[in-house]
Amino acid sequence: MEPVLITGCSSGIGRATALALAQRGLTVWATARRPESLDALADAGCRVLPLDVTDEQSRIAAVEAVEAEHGSVGTLVNNAGYAQGGPLEEVRLDDVRRQFETNVFGPLRMCQLVLPAMRAAGRGRIVTMGSAAGLIGTPGASAYGMTKWALENMADSLRYEVRRFGVDVVLMEPGGVLTNFAGTETSTWPATDGPYTAFRHNTHKQMERFFREGSRVVSKPEDVAALVVRAVTARRPRTRYKIGVAPRLMP
Ligand code: NDP
Repeated sequence: MEPVLITGCSSGIGRATALALAQRGLTVWATARRPESLDALADAGCRVLPLDVTDEQSRIAAVEAVEAEHGSVGTLVNNAGYAQGGPLEEVRLDDVRRQFETNVFGPLRMCQLVLPAMRAAGRGRIVTMGSAAGLIGTPGASAYGMTKWALENMADSLRYEVRRFGVDVVLMEPGGVLTNFAGTETSTWPATDGPYTAFRHNTHKQMERFFREGSRVVSKPEDVAALVVRAVTARRPRTRYKIGVAPRLMP
C-alpha cells in the first residue's frame, strides 16, 4: 500500500527493504537520523527524509512531509531499533529507558501520527519489526527482549482497534539477521568486572559464532526485506511473518 514510509534506513533491514520496494516501483520514503546515509537510496529512486524516532519534532515533520504530498501514509514500516545487552542485575536503568524510547515509544508515536489521515482515507497499513527476542527469553538480552515483547503487544492490540477503519497491522518476527546489529548485542554490554564477567565472555563468543560463522537460521537483510515486501503489497496480509525462527524454540 503506497506510499511507504520506513524508519531506520541507514543500514540493514531498513535499507534492504527500501531498496526492494523501490525496485518494485513503489513510492518509498526512506528515513534515517543521518540523511547522508540515504544517498544511495535516493539514487535508487527513494524519496528521503531525516527522522529520529525519539524526537517529536522530527517525527511530526516526517509524517507531515509525506501527507502534504500524498494525503496519507499508505504503509508505515516501523523498523528502527537497536539492542544493548547485559545481565538484568547489571543493566543501567537509563540504558533500558533509551531502548524503550527508540524501540517502543518511537513506533507508538509514529502510529499515533499516521493514523488520523489513514482513518480519514479509510485505508492504511502498519508493519512493525518485532523479533524472536520478543517471543522468547534470551540470556543477556532481557532489556531488548522487553522492548520487543512490548512492541509485539502494541501491534496485536492496535490491530483490533483499527481494523474497523480499514487499517491492517502486521508484525515481522525475524530471528538472527546478519546486519550491523548482529553481534553487537553483547559487544555493547557495559564492560564491568563482576559475577557476570565469564558469562559475558561466553555469551559474546556464542553470539559471534552464531552471527559471524553462520548458522542455517541466520537470515540476510534481503531475506527479511523480501518478506516485508509481501507484508506491504499483499491484498490481505497475514498478521505476522516469521523468518529464521526455529519452531522448537517458540512457546
Ligand atoms: P541495523 O543496526 O543495521 O539497523 C538499525 C537501524 O535503526 C539503523 O538504520 C539505525 O540508524 C536505526 N535507528 C536506531 N535508532 C534510531 C532512531 N532513534 N531513529 C531513527 N533510526 C534509528 O540493524 P537491523 O537492520 O538488524 O535492525 C532493524 C530492525 O530489525 C530493528 O528494529 C531490530 O531490532 C530488528 N531485528 C533485528 C534482528 C537482527 O538479528 N539483526 C532480529 C530481529 C529483529 P543509525 O544508523 O542512525 O543508528
